[in-house]
Amino acid sequence: MIRPGSTLGILGGGQLGRMIAMAAAELGLRTHIYAPEENSPAFDVAAEYTIASYEDEAALVGFAKAVDVVTYEFENVPSETAATLSAHALLAPNAQALAVSQDRFLEKSFIAGLDIPVAPFAVFANEDELLEAVARIGRPAVLKTRRFGYDGKGQTMIRPETDPVTAWDALGRAPSILEGFVPFEREVSVIAARTASGGFAAYDLCANEHRNHILDTTRVPAGVSAGTEAQAVAIARAIADALDYVGVLAVEMFLVNDAQGERLVVNEIAPRVHNSGHWTLGGAVTSQFEQHVRAVCGWPLGATSRLGRVEMQNLIGHDVEAWERILAEPGAHLHLYGKAEARAGRKMGHVTRIFDESR
Ligand code: AMP
Repeated sequence: MIRPGSTLGILGGGQLGRMIAMAAAELGLRTHIYAPEENSPAFDVAAEYTIASYEDEAALVGFAKAVDVVTYEFENVPSETAATLSAHALLAPNAQALAVSQDRFLEKSFIAGLDIPVAPFAVFANEDELLEAVARIGRPAVLKTRRFGYDGKGQTMIRPETDPVTAWDALGRAPSILEGFVPFEREVSVIAARTASGGFAAYDLCANEHRNHILDTTRVPAGVSAGTEAQAVAIARAIADALDYVGVLAVEMFLVNDAQGERLVVNEIAPRVHNSGHWTLGGAVTSQFEQHVRAVCGWPLGATSRLGRVEMQNLIGHDVEAWERILAEPGAHLHLYGKAEARAGRKMGHVTRIFDESR
């Protein structure tokens, strides 16, 4: 049993780790951040930090022994790193959640294996198999690297005129999958949490808009039917149960609205707190960060009720220069991540606005 006063170890020192650490502090926990980059945003708000690479076994063992439970803010934790940590500390979410979510082929196969709809997909090992996959799945299709893709990186469209082999070359011929293009109406996500004893709670489905492949705005409610909302939560629960998942989980989905009506197709999962859940900080009774801390500590989950209609907007790159204007705006909740330099595409902060449900 982890008690207030214990130490939560967090792998990764970005804004997600920073907001988890702040939530942990509110519940009387100490945090120890492990990250390779000097000046990581999470260091500013933690009791301790270690600067070392994710391959440094001695540093990982020292870190694991110094904390009571280890969690992480990104899914590309190498499997050897997860194994080293698991040998010396409780790791939550578990290594299987990492393995499944960091490889698009394993991820799609796992989700499809639960009878949850995903885009048609195929794995291929050479040019012939790629062409065969394109013929089978049809165009347009999306070519995605199996690993290390994010914010639209590591993927490219196969349009009617695209030469698939040239497109694969552009991805450096990295191990990849081909996915059928989903003609979605909207992108939505569910943020949910599960505890080791099977406790489960989900937030309301949110609708996500991207700009330059990066999340720009999240709106809740998502404006879908009650049946679709219930289906989204059931999908998240089935995935969390199948992974024996502990912590907050994000499930990104496409909302399709065609002749068959409104339905959901899962795109990917993130075994961590997620940008599309930032609205819960101020917009829900319990934030996703607090919920994650509760889950990994084995504590009861908090209420996920919404406090109104919520909009979360990311402050990307120079957007952050509006900070004074946002501070002056009644009711706007500003969150800045303490990053020194506002480079293009860099997530610098976010702002949450809560409105009466009727507006
Ligand atoms: P991902 O890295 O898988 O989250 O993909 C990034 C973005 O590309 C998604 O948010 C979608 O906007 C788009 N996308 C990815 N896969 C598909 C697909 N199979 N069909 C249509 N759009 C997709």
